[in-house]
Amino acid sequence: MDGSLTRRDVLRRASLAAGVAAAGAMASAQTPDPPAAGSEPMVVSPYTLPPLPYAYDALEPYLGARTLELHHDTHHAGYVRGANEAVSNLVEARRTGSTSMAGEYAAKLAFHASGHVLHTLYWENMAPDGGGAPQGRVGGMIRRQFGSYDAFVKQFKAIGTSVEGSGWGVLAYEPRGGLLVIAPVKNHENVVVMGMEPLLVVDVWEHAYYLDYQSDRGKYFDVWMEHLVSWPAVDQRLAAVVR
Ligand code: MN
Repeated sequence: MDGSLTRRDVLRRASLAAGVAAAGAMASAQTPDPPAAGSEPMVVSPYTLPPLPYAYDALEPYLGARTLELHHDTHHAGYVRGANEAVSNLVEARRTGSTSMAGEYAAKLAFHASGHVLHTLYWENMAPDGGGAPQGRVGGMIRRQFGSYDAFVKQFKAIGTSVEGSGWGVLAYEPRGGLLVIAPVKNHENVVVMGMEPLLVVDVWEHAYYLDYQSDRGKYFDVWMEHLVSWPAVDQRLAAVVR
């Protein structure tokens, strides 16, 4: 930081911080008030695609502009659309009294809404000047629980890159045990500890890295931790979920 923040910079940072806090408070923060008892909720497209918090080329040379453009505008947008469709289909099924597809719609909602939540966190988890070891509160928690930052990174990479097929490496806070957990999430919604709060998420679907790293998921993961991870964003999310 060179000390000459413009007003635009300040506004941008403030809005980013607010976005991180809102996402950290989980999707419930964006959910409208529950309907009165006995009334059918007027749920119309509860999910919206947030703008990418930086330019498409902001993370070059580590992630290319084309990767971010496709990933945000096509993939993330698709999960938002899919989640809204699932909600709409469930509302319509209740209206018509149909039950035959209800389980399928509910599974679609879990997949697409989780995809939306994780991508929202993922964009905030990266910064053009990111990377390196955390200095803040989460850094202290990591060192206490894992022994060292290097030991954490080694296990995080092992678990995150072990996901078969498509998924995520997720560092989360598990409130009942009061500890950090690393989850090898399959797709967007499988292999989690229920109730965990995601703090740091790395997308290991091929669409996240294939244009830049082809089949080398390990290289992408290394570069991500060394140059892209935004620990201040993780600290803000932790502050939102752990008082
Ligand atoms: Mn993705």
